[in-house]
Amino acid sequence: MNKDVRICIIGGGPAGLSAGMYLEKKGYFNYEILERLDRVGGKCWSPTYNGRRYEMGAIMGVPSYYAVHDVEEFCGITHDGPKLNRNYKNSRGDVIEPFEPKKNILKIPRLLKMKKQVKKLGEILETKYKGYDVNGHRGVAEGRYEGFSQVNAKRERVEGVNPNLKDLTLPFNEFCKLNGVELIQDIWIGPYTSFGYGYFDEIPAAYVLKYLDFQTCMNFVKINLWTWKEGTQYIWEQLNAHLKNPAVLNSRIEKIERTEDKVYVTVNGEVKEYDKLIVTAPLYIPGTRMDGQKGFVEYCDAREDEKELFSKIDYERYDVLAVETKPEDHPEISYYVFDNMTKERLGHMMVYYRRWKDTKDQVITTYALRKHKDTKEIPYEDCKKTVLEDLKTMHNPASNVINEWSVYYFPHVFSKDYADGWYDKVEAMQDKYNTFYAGEIMSFGDMDETAEYSYELVERFF
Ligand SMILES: Cc1cc2nc3c(=O)[nH]c(=O)nc-3n(C[C@H](O)[C@H](O)[C@H](O)COP(=O)(O)OP(=O)(O)OC[C@H]3O[C@@H](n4cnc5c(N)ncnc54)[C@H](O)[C@@H]3O)c2cc1C
Repeated sequence: MNKDVRICIIGGGPAGLSAGMYLEKKGYFNYEILERLDRVGGKCWSPTYNGRRYEMGAIMGVPSYYAVHDVEEFCGITHDGPKLNRNYKNSRGDVIEPFEPKKNILKIPRLLKMKKQVKKLGEILETKYKGYDVNGHRGVAEGRYEGFSQVNAKRERVEGVNPNLKDLTLPFNEFCKLNGVELIQDIWIGPYTSFGYGYFDEIPAAYVLKYLDFQTCMNFVKINLWTWKEGTQYIWEQLNAHLKNPAVLNSRIEKIERTEDKVYVTVNGEVKEYDKLIVTAPLYIPGTRMDGQKGFVEYCDAREDEKELFSKIDYERYDVLAVETKPEDHPEISYYVFDNMTKERLGHMMVYYRRWKDTKDQVITTYALRKHKDTKEIPYEDCKKTVLEDLKTMHNPASNVINEWSVYYFPHVFSKDYADGWYDKVEAMQDKYNTFYAGEIMSFGDMDETAEYSYELVERFF
């Protein structure tokens, strides 16, 4: 593509900013990033409290976050945050050790079986499901893989045919049953459901395993994780500061019109002309949201195929509270509450996070889901009340709510649409209307997968 092409990037989160970085690396400098809010980072939001930054959004990474590492190198920063640690509680607030055989004598046979199944999953992912872990979802529904290997930082391009990959379109619980590895769900659920990515009976296995590939899941088990002292938002603030064209904040996009060869974006009352558009903001938002966020199809001249496909996208209603406690009520550590990770306990707190070990004057953040595909959405205020009650049950009552957020989280499609080739249809539309679709929906809702997708998008099309 002509290096002078004028590119408009919608969204100054990890996907949009890293698209800018990768474009620059290839010699494209004529891009502009439009960000709706007065800050960059998107769901990496790290406000300050008592002189330190805490996390309302993304918290951690793993050593295989190659795209995030590209950003760190580009900006000369590193993952210098507090070491994460955690323990487990049941729904009555007792500390438990569910994976410790000595503490669970009766469960020893199950734990041994689970260990065998973890090994088996590791093996079949390498063999039967070869190609499962490339970034993005191209070809999966057709039994193909195509993209950049995530085995090491070189990210070599791989492609091949593997009809078994079609199994990844099944909900994750069915995928596990098919392969005789049902018990591994007890381990995968920790960094999956409690992190707001939904339930295993509703989410296609492709999402679960592309995010929690075998290596990544083991890094969670061993707590081999990255954090950032100034918060994950700092990564993206730094990137923004190092870009030739930092994001234009407070950009209110009113309208987008696309002709044969131009893109006209009306932003804050002014019409701007570009040649190409990269959308990293939500493509479609079912219903209305309290924060007034709208999907791309609502403000652009959406074509029939865009409307049809994007209307299949759902997202998670994931709530975060940041609370203060009295020093004597401060939790020892972060806790997972496995009992609350079932759809029967929707709206309950699944995990709570203590970020700083050396002080008790910092906030604790709590996480809860409010919707399962087959249930009615739990009202926000009801969920908040439940979570505050849960904190009391956990013996860590909140004295004050400092911050709260109900996030547009983890856009995805369900198994039927995934198996019907949703991703291949959308991928075939890339550049059709001088528009490229990127961001979470095209890969997965974590900061590395979205940045990695931007890397691949730039490699493929620019
Ligand atoms: C509570 C929570 C915990 C998380 N934990 C982790 C974690 O530990 N590790 C991890 O890797 N990831 C985590 N994530 C996920 C991670 O933050 C996201 O996947 C990542 O930020 C997605 O990047 P993105 O650029 O695709 O989207 P976003 O971060 O959502 O950025 C999109 C940007 O587009 C902007 N935008 C929206 N609409 C418009 C518009 N109309 N015009 C212009 N701009 C617009 C938004 O304001 C936003 O800045 C977490 C997220 C949350 C909320």
